[in-house]
Amino acid sequence: MKNVAVIGAGTMGNGIAHTFAQFDYKVQLIDVSQSALDKGIATITKNLDRMVAREKISEEDKTRTLNNITTYTNMEEGVEYASLVVEAATENVDLKLKIFKDLDSFCPDDTILASNTSSISITQIAAVTSRPGMVIGMHFMNPVPIMKLVEIIKGYSTSDETYKTVEEISKKLNKVPVEVNDYPGFVANRILMPMINEAVETLYNGVAGVQEIDTVMKLGMAHPMGPLQLADFIGLDVCLSILNVMYAGFKNPKYAPCPLLVNMVMAGKLGVKSGEGFYDYSESRKAEKVAVQFS
Ligand code: NAD
Repeated sequence: MKNVAVIGAGTMGNGIAHTFAQFDYKVQLIDVSQSALDKGIATITKNLDRMVAREKISEEDKTRTLNNITTYTNMEEGVEYASLVVEAATENVDLKLKIFKDLDSFCPDDTILASNTSSISITQIAAVTSRPGMVIGMHFMNPVPIMKLVEIIKGYSTSDETYKTVEEISKKLNKVPVEVNDYPGFVANRILMPMINEAVETLYNGVAGVQEIDTVMKLGMAHPMGPLQLADFIGLDVCLSILNVMYAGFKNPKYAPCPLLVNMVMAGKLGVKSGEGFYDYSESRKAEKVAVQFS
């Protein structure tokens, strides 16, 4: 298996393309937007440069990795010879169902179709294809070239053969695959999101402030980052949407998103990407911090 198509060149897609290419797979990186592809390649180049500077890879490794990636805006053309497709397009059910229907008709009959979705059912995605046994979840973590975990999600109909193949590929990428069944939130988000939601609830109830809650979890539990800061990095809209999927899927109030989280998303306070969440990431604050650093 040498040809891997990656659908979507955003945050996760470019990281996935980078990782496969670094381990000598030929990668067809596909996005509907040419500017997303250009940005994706620029990000991969920047991340490879950083790895060269830290002596993790050589200049030749960087060149080889970049040469292994070809970009496409036409999906049919990009997946023509793919043995594996990893879909990392925008998290939207209707969009993913459409993409998998198209992949099923464009790809060779023996192509494995994987999705990097954080919360959409693999079983539901598989059901729109004529090959549900060959559809699987490959849930990478951000940033993909660095994080070791891949949650491999077996849909209701995923075959053992498909699972074994994807498990082997994950190991070849120097990742640690973990087998997980297809239920809302899988494992990572099922445990992480209620913790984040409880941190927001603790803030909402006035038990402690933002810094205090994060400090307790960092210093008390040895977490590298507090839950509120982590939520800002993930995106508060993404956290809300995953909690809603779990709430709807389990019909259990323990997954109901905290009203403060809902309000912040409605107010457009989405975390790092919008410049403000539980913390302030605006330019003025950055300037302030830099000024402090050099004073
Ligand atoms: P993103 O918004 O950064 O990138 C999505 C890309 O998909 C965009 O470049 C967009 O142009 C492209 N796209 C949209 N429709 C397309 C189509 N029909 N064909 C090809 N490309 C298309 O999103 P992201 O954060 O990279 O997330 C991608 C997937 O990975 C989602 O399913 C998300 O749930 C999952 N995920 C995200 C993270 C994370 O931390 N961001 C972590 C794990 C999993």
